Amino acid sequence: MDSKFAWAKINRSPSAIIKSTFMTTMTSPLNSSSTNSQQSSSEKNILGWEGFTLTLPAYWTLASFAGDRDKGNFRITDEDGTRVEVVWETPKGTPNLERSIENLSKAWEKEAKKKKQDFHLANNPPIVSKTRQKKEQLINFGWKGDNKDPMAAHGWGVGWHCAECGRVVVAHLVGRGRETSGTAQRLASEIFSSMECHNHGGWNTWSVFGFQVDIPENFAMKLGKLQTGKIEMEWENPRPADWWMTPKWWGRRPERLGVQRLSAANLVLIDQDMKTWAKRMVPRCNKKYLFTFDEHNSTDDQLWFTGKTWNLRQRLSETAWRFVLRRQHQEIRATVWRDEKDNKLLFAFFDLTSQNEHVQDDVLNSIATHTLV
Ligand SMILES: [Zn+2]
Repeated sequence: MDSKFAWAKINRSPSAIIKSTFMTTMTSPLNSSSTNSQQSSSEKNILGWEGFTLTLPAYWTLASFAGDRDKGNFRITDEDGTRVEVVWETPKGTPNLERSIENLSKAWEKEAKKKKQDFHLANNPPIVSKTRQKKEQLINFGWKGDNKDPMAAHGWGVGWHCAECGRVVVAHLVGRGRETSGTAQRLASEIFSSMECHNHGGWNTWSVFGFQVDIPENFAMKLGKLQTGKIEMEWENPRPADWWMTPKWWGRRPERLGVQRLSAANLVLIDQDMKTWAKRMVPRCNKKYLFTFDEHNSTDDQLWFTGKTWNLRQRLSETAWRFVLRRQHQEIRATVWRDEKDNKLLFAFFDLTSQNEHVQDDVLNSIATHTLV
């Protein structure tokens, strides 16, 4: 049934959405405490992804994602399957949102007809009001299918064009057969009315499976690996396209930073202390860097490492340019600590220019391992 909502029709070339320059892999997020269906249904969790933030029932989780800030999509599931899909693009000119939504609806209608299923489009359902989301263009949509379909009996959504981030966003909630259309509409309205599509203040909140971190908006995600027991994310501040024209970029590597969260710290540290474990695991935990334990700056609660890039040629070139341009060394630092309360081990690394040194503390201070609201 997922193909019915695969959005393929709104994007003329669906493969382009998947085409991303970074690795996006994902397995079932079993590490997440939020998959526990015994949780109170009133508990909410924040999903933060590519500049979006959504407040969702705590047991709904990110199930797949693709693309980047300009163009991409993600899918959220509850214990049964797909619940919410969000897809976005950054058009060059003024988009015709009404036409896009119409085409999308027609594609669904055609698909339902082919399968001889009931399908009716709802006329302008009240999902998100223009006073709640002040967008350039905003269109609500909805459909009703077979009300006995347990997984997808109806659907409610909104599309908008945001003047601030320049994105066209289409968000869609799938209603279950056991839900009345009113209930699903209210849920869609609650989620999409408070959904943000861009940050305020230059930092994006990334929040997934109860792990949250703020990252400067000019850093783009390069690695997102959300696996059982381990979350790993990395971002890069890309060099400008014409970097070779600008001496300040010569012989300089792009800034990069990353975080990892490991579950079940008590099991990892069952027969070794954190220092022993970290000294063994951290040095080679990243393909790009080699880390060395920094005894001097480490404490019992927080361990520090210094790093250098694996790439010897790059290292030599950087040293040469540093000498010629009297430039400061771009430090690489990494740190490990334990969150006793949530039973997690955390790792973060920073490869930043001296002008952006403050980013390290800002990022570390923003990290939260418990985002239930
Ligand atoms: Zn926006």
